[in-house]
Amino acid sequence: ILEVEDLEVAFGGTPVLHRISFAMRRGERVAIVGQSGSGKSTAIGAILRLLPGSGRITHGSIVLGAGRTRGDVEDLAAASEPVLRRIRGQRVALVPQDPMSNLNPAMKIGPQVADAIVASRRGTDGGRPDRAEVRQRAIALLSEAGIPDAERRYGQYPHEFSGGMRQRVLIAIALAGEPELLIADEPTSALDVTVQRQILNHLQSLVDARGTSLLFITHDLGLAADRTDRIIVMSEGRIVEVGTPRQILLNPQEEYTQRLVAAAP
Ligand code: ATP
Ligand code: MG
Repeated sequence: ILEVEDLEVAFGGTPVLHRISFAMRRGERVAIVGQSGSGKSTAIGAILRLLPGSGRITHGSIVLGAGRTRGDVEDLAAASEPVLRRIRGQRVALVPQDPMSNLNPAMKIGPQVADAIVASRRGTDGGRPDRAEVRQRAIALLSEAGIPDAERRYGQYPHEFSGGMRQRVLIAIALAGEPELLIADEPTSALDVTVQRQILNHLQSLVDARGTSLLFITHDLGLAADRTDRIIVMSEGRIVEVGTPRQILLNPQEEYTQRLVAAAP
């Protein structure tokens, strides 16, 4: 579903990703693991074409829909802004790291999910959205994301939700467009370990049920190993090793990976 080839990203002329290449199969769950500053967020920023500041793709391709019919294949590295707007949310969606800065504090939760649903349909059906239907769909998504009593909570504001519940709202928003590829950047790093695991387990069951491909970014090798089919280890803007969780945990080849495994709880 995704083929990244020789991707190089630079900030103000300084390369921070050095020609990385990897591919994901449809329905596969892949983790990118690496220490802080290794380039994980930069890699997904490039894939979503949402690089901060002076970040630019200086080389390479990011092919979405690889292996499909031509019309559905898109090189994200070269795509125009209108094409990217159509793809984000509809074909590729992000569960961001920080729920507080990614929800509008002045807007009720339900309408934020409803907006994501409407936005994800833009350009596909043309007609005006049926408000009652969108509301029902938003409630269903919130409930699927593990929010109890979603009908009542539809009208509440972000500050009335706990951190874990806010993270679940972000999952509902990311799934609003039924994306083919879901990217999660340390989606639970602000939460305590028990809640983290609950939410990740839930996220995993949602993507498995849909056959959605998952690219899961974390610095926690243990979390990655439990939930993915393949682990990509990154260090200093390079991919140092790729393997199944078993290979990485039990038989790491590179010294960097060995240190990561030794440090994992
Ligand atoms: P973390 O685990 O802390 O989130 P990361 O693996 O996501 O780290 P990145 O945020 O991708 O790491 O950073 C990779 C490199 O890119 C770092 O050396 C960082 O200094 C640089 N970098 C990231 N964002 C910017 C930016 N907006 N401007 C300049 N350099 C940046
Ligand atoms: Mg990061």
